[in-house]
Amino acid sequence: MNIDKRIEYDKELLNILPDGVLVLNSDGEVTQLNQQAQTELHIKSFPDKSTQPLRIENIINLIYHKENILPVVMEGLRKGEQGYTLPEHIDIQEKNNYTQFPVNGRFVTVREDGELKGILFFFRNITVELTQEYILNTALQRTKIYPWYYDIARSEFTLDYRYFEHLGITPGINNTLTMEEYVEMIHPDDRQAMADAFTIQLSGIETFEKPVPFRLHRGDGTWEWFEGQSTYIANVLGHPYRLVGICMSIQEYKDIENTLIEARKKAEESDKLKMAFLANMSHEIRTPLNAIVGFSDVIASTYYELSDEERADFVRLISINSEHLVRLIDDILDLSKIESNTIEFTFENYPLKSLLRDIEMEQAMKPVPGIEIKALLPDADTNVVTDATRLKQVICNLINNARKFTEKGHIHFGYTVDSNHADSVLIFVEDTGEGIPNECQKEIFDRFYKVNTFKQGTGLGLSICKTIVEHLQGEISVSSEPGKGSRFVVTLPLNIQREY
Ligand code: ADP
Repeated sequence: MNIDKRIEYDKELLNILPDGVLVLNSDGEVTQLNQQAQTELHIKSFPDKSTQPLRIENIINLIYHKENILPVVMEGLRKGEQGYTLPEHIDIQEKNNYTQFPVNGRFVTVREDGELKGILFFFRNITVELTQEYILNTALQRTKIYPWYYDIARSEFTLDYRYFEHLGITPGINNTLTMEEYVEMIHPDDRQAMADAFTIQLSGIETFEKPVPFRLHRGDGTWEWFEGQSTYIANVLGHPYRLVGICMSIQEYKDIENTLIEARKKAEESDKLKMAFLANMSHEIRTPLNAIVGFSDVIASTYYELSDEERADFVRLISINSEHLVRLIDDILDLSKIESNTIEFTFENYPLKSLLRDIEMEQAMKPVPGIEIKALLPDADTNVVTDATRLKQVICNLINNARKFTEKGHIHFGYTVDSNHADSVLIFVEDTGEGIPNECQKEIFDRFYKVNTFKQGTGLGLSICKTIVEHLQGEISVSSEPGKGSRFVVTLPLNIQREY
């Protein structure tokens, strides 16, 4: 090959390289420049015969920590350094358009008998790589995706260090875990599915591309849901030597899924209860109404044939059923007010003792044989800032329930002020009735809930009580033992927490 051909050949070779290449003589003058370098550095024509020889210092700056380090690098190479690899985070600033871009690269010297003959400078614009790296890292971090690979010969997982951080566990050397250590972290119920996926992947016959959900044991002892996906890298014979994959935390989705399942269950349950309520309602309204209409008819049509006692008895039954009907309708009206959020409260300073005495007097007017209904009150009165009408409604509701579910013994109600919680008062209603099974004690405050669906009642009273007590900034609770009785407690602040 003659010399011209040789030069042409070298030029072609340099031009097909993806990196920029500058060939410099020992003085730093550019003797050759490939196509890529010309493009990156915005050099229109080279060699440009009309101008002075092109020196590297006149084409670029090498910006590292805001300083141009090119003169120092060139000086080092002239003084005997064999080469110089560009550190990370270094930029080329080209002097034609003054654009700046991050680079990888290296200076290499050509020497003959120790004497510097030329310098080669290779560089690669890494803007695209850095952009992709940034996008990938941001995506991985935001989506909680952790890359991993498994070295089959060493039976060893190498995991993203963030995976260890996320799980709150100590990483092995070089962020590795053995297969045994990893399997140990997987929930026993999920190990088989993982083992099956691995067996297929390791066979090298087909790739297992479906994501596998599994739970991992976190450092704090809890379980977290992940989804794993992998592929393999095989040698020339097609045998896999490395599995590569990602693990993605799907705990947030699982939590949302569980909340939705829970909400759907509740909605279905509430739907069922509502249907039962409607069916029950017609019965609940019809029964007292039938009694009222029936006994009124009897009195009207046979007034003079009835004895005084019979008439008094019928009138009493009409009165009991009317009262029941009014209570029922009041409950339904209250429920609709709660639903439409139009229930109103008027707070005022009210003496609690007088309120309970009034209730005791009203109760005394409708005694139940075999049951003592009594208020147990401290000597001193206590003033509460509350809506007295609504509070009375709650206490009466609790007493009416106690009357409904008590055959014999007593119904006591009253209040105490605990010296440890002097800013609140504890109002109680207790009975020696049938009691409430432990497992039902939470639900009785839900709408339409009844322990025994065949018993009279709408299942609304306690849920209305709970809503009222919450508006009064208090709490309601129950303790009960089946066969022995129940004790309902309403805790109210003596003074409410807002303007009234
Ligand atoms: P209702 O009494 O109209 O059915 P409530 O909401 O007032 O509705 O009460 C819900 C359920 O709680 C009742 O059906 C009953 O099973 C139970 N319950 C309430 N109070 C008592 C009590 N004092 N003793 C036993 N069970 C009670």
